[in-house]
Amino acid sequence: MKLESNAILISIRPFNEKDAVARVFSRDYGILVGVMRGAVVAKKNKPLVGQVGDVVWNARLDSQLGTFHWDAEKNLAVPIMMNQQRLACMNAAFDLLITLLPEREEYMMLFDETLNLLDVLGQGDLGAYLTWEINLLRDLGYALDLNRCSGCGRVHNLTHLSPRTGRAVCAECAQPYISKLYALPVNMNTTLRFLENICMQQGTQIPHMRRMLNIV
Ligand SMILES: [Zn+2]
Repeated sequence: MKLESNAILISIRPFNEKDAVARVFSRDYGILVGVMRGAVVAKKNKPLVGQVGDVVWNARLDSQLGTFHWDAEKNLAVPIMMNQQRLACMNAAFDLLITLLPEREEYMMLFDETLNLLDVLGQGDLGAYLTWEINLLRDLGYALDLNRCSGCGRVHNLTHLSPRTGRAVCAECAQPYISKLYALPVNMNTTLRFLENICMQQGTQIPHMRRMLNIV
């Protein structure tokens, strides 16, 4: 089995003295995991987290850990790494992708949104991170609907959000359930609570980088 796609390198760890195990978020096949031969000892063209490029993933059997050929085009992490907060956002985003997305399932829209996130983070726009997480929630089955009340349909005085459905609730409809609802507007704490619930359902834990993320 051979897969080829444009991809973002989101994690790389030494596997032995020479080789590394890498994860890429690919445009056509979502998360791919495999070995990058010689990545640990590479002197030039060293694979680095945050690079964007073309990947070829090969595996003999469907279930086997594949091997990568990685051809980096550019490193979007360079302007991100100059700043602690930008870097914390990138790390949190990559850890969430690794934790929550299944392997070899396509998330093309989220891939493009992740590329865009790296681009704007590099320009210093930290606010884009929250938008990215709302997009991630959409792909995990929690598309936030903030336009009208899920109880009565009104579009004004929307004060709360249902943790179960991700839909807005107006002040009146919220009253009987107020302790169970999240207050609007959506902020980093709101998305964290959704993400924690999803992690719990998947039997995993929210990545440390995300829990600690504090954008000012
Ligand atoms: Zn209502």
